[in-house]
Amino acid sequence: MAKYSMISAPDFMPEHMLRDVQNKKFLDVFHRVYTSVPWYRNLLEENNVNPDSIKSLADLSKLPFIKKTDLRDTYPTGMFAVPMSKILRFHASSGTTGKPIVMGYTQHDLDAWSEATSRALAMFGLDENDVLQVGYGYGLFTGGLGLHDGGQRRGCTVLPISGGNTERQLMLMRDLGTTAVACTPSYFLHIIDHARKVGFDWKTTKLRVGIFGAEPWSDEMRKFIEDETGIETFDIYGLTEVSGPGVGGDCPCHNGIHIFEDHFYPEIVDPETLQPLPDGEEGELVFTTLDKEGIPLIRYRTRDMTRLISERCACGRTLRRIGRITHRSDDMMIIRGVNVFPGQVESALLAIDPNLVNYQIYLSKGPDGLDVIEVKVEPTPEKFSVLWNDDAAKEKFRRLIAEKLQRVVGINFKTTLVAPDSIPRSEGKSKRVFDNRHKKD
Ligand code: ADP
Ligand code: ZN
Repeated sequence: MAKYSMISAPDFMPEHMLRDVQNKKFLDVFHRVYTSVPWYRNLLEENNVNPDSIKSLADLSKLPFIKKTDLRDTYPTGMFAVPMSKILRFHASSGTTGKPIVMGYTQHDLDAWSEATSRALAMFGLDENDVLQVGYGYGLFTGGLGLHDGGQRRGCTVLPISGGNTERQLMLMRDLGTTAVACTPSYFLHIIDHARKVGFDWKTTKLRVGIFGAEPWSDEMRKFIEDETGIETFDIYGLTEVSGPGVGGDCPCHNGIHIFEDHFYPEIVDPETLQPLPDGEEGELVFTTLDKEGIPLIRYRTRDMTRLISERCACGRTLRRIGRITHRSDDMMIIRGVNVFPGQVESALLAIDPNLVNYQIYLSKGPDGLDVIEVKVEPTPEKFSVLWNDDAAKEKFRRLIAEKLQRVVGINFKTTLVAPDSIPRSEGKSKRVFDNRHKKD
């Protein structure tokens, strides 16, 4: 056991020691970036920052931000701070449009990342007696290899099955005694769907922990998964630019996500004014990577919206927490002047019926030129078979959903019920919003 208590010790470091560690690492990383990345030196010059004026994290607010577009503009290697001979691995963000964001990892970067991820797994109660089924995609996406390395470092038996082949996921889960599964919440919903279809009994498995992240999932979704399978679910957060999964995770108190802030220093800023916000206020999450060598990032804007919680958690960890990520700043849909987030739609649907986990949102322009928001919802096969023989009941159910959405979100939704299995299932991150407002017919 001694081996494992060492791993988790930084989680409980007294605050003043943690701040000391952070300050030392910060000055080191700042000078490394400044001296080795010409792009960053220019950025400081453009912003009239004298690097000698940066003496501790208290001076962080004097520094400019690094944006996603900066990483795209310097594609592929313009931000690298070490020679290519030191880079052991590439990963890239799954961004669907334009050039991907490419990250390069040194041995030290891979070690720091797997150390953070193994601490997340320790927090989720995993040790060498666990079998961790990694159902995240392996490849350029950080999910698969991130959980893989973290799991091995924690001493778990890793089952590197990747995403897809749902039948086999269930078979191996049962036969190899999987105790923990890690994948996107969307993919786990798909696994649940399949399990229902084939009459799979979760009680015949040893599964007790679900580790879900890489996309937002609501508290209602969490409850649905836990009720359906009897497992405890944990939220794991991360992003490629900062390392990958394992930047933070929720502890058994399930009261926010602890950030492994001896590696990743968090700030919350107002996304409009870019001013730092006090703890507890919602804004954009910004990270300074304290250890990274390959592509260190100072004040990187994640676009993820949340708040910082600095009160000590009941678990005793001194690491600060963030609220669960409910949306990204670029997820917001403005419909006829009202701000709408996909998460609100999900919460409203699941409050009506916890089975309404398969839905899609379509945005278009009506004949009058105004925005139209349509939600397509898939009832369960059982519900479907009842509703499709009874037009009045079908209309009643449809209206119930439309009215709930109107109440929760504050605008009218066109609401359509669709047949079971008509909404495509995802093996990775799901795409639920389709914005056709600017499409030409
Ligand atoms: P991409 O930006 O292409 O999706 P990544 O695969 O690196 O690239 O995904 C990182 C992003 O995924 C985060 O910035 C965040 O928006 C989202 N994400 C990751 N983990 C979570 C989580 N636990 N809850 C909500 N969103 C998450
Ligand atoms: Zn805690």
